[in-house]
Amino acid sequence: MTRSFLSLGSNLGARLGYLRAAVEAIERGPLIEVAGISKVYETMPVEVDEEQPDYLNCVVEVRYGAAAVELLRFCQGVEAALGRTGKGGRLPRTVDIDILLFGEEVIERPHLVVPHPGILRAFNLRGLADLAPGVYIPGRGAVRGLLAGADLSGIREFGESL
Ligand code: ADP
Ligand code: MG
Repeated sequence: MTRSFLSLGSNLGARLGYLRAAVEAIERGPLIEVAGISKVYETMPVEVDEEQPDYLNCVVEVRYGAAAVELLRFCQGVEAALGRTGKGGRLPRTVDIDILLFGEEVIERPHLVVPHPGILRAFNLRGLADLAPGVYIPGRGAVRGLLAGADLSGIREFGESL
């Protein structure tokens, strides 16, 4: 089993409900166990051209019993099942699921880059720190130290948790 961390985000409709539904779908998935869920953070959209609703984000720790590409395929299936239509371009979406870390693997393929390029965003570091402040990001260092240098101004803890 590989220890992996997933970043979940939603900025469309019943955002918390979509995050909950995504976690429930992940829990039902094959070869996967949910080991922890971070707090939920509300985040101003980053890297978008137009005004968009705020995101709710959280990080989910899982144990996965197959390869990273299989996990990507599974996550994309969950996104599709929850009604995501937008693809890429930072469009509003019901649920976005990204693989932040897959053990200490470094993967650079056309359709799968791990650690995820967005892993240093404040909400991902906060979520990772909730679950595993000592976890090592290949090529970057431990979450704890990276969080100390992060700009947390655009995010706040959301009142409700999953
Ligand atoms: P965003 O960059 O906002 O997450 P998408 O979710 O639409 O945008 O992702 C676009 C592509 O990112 C997907 O087709 C997927 O193949 C690719 N991708 C590359 N690395 C990863 C990863 N670590 N986790 C999830 N998707 C990834
Ligand atoms: Mg994505």
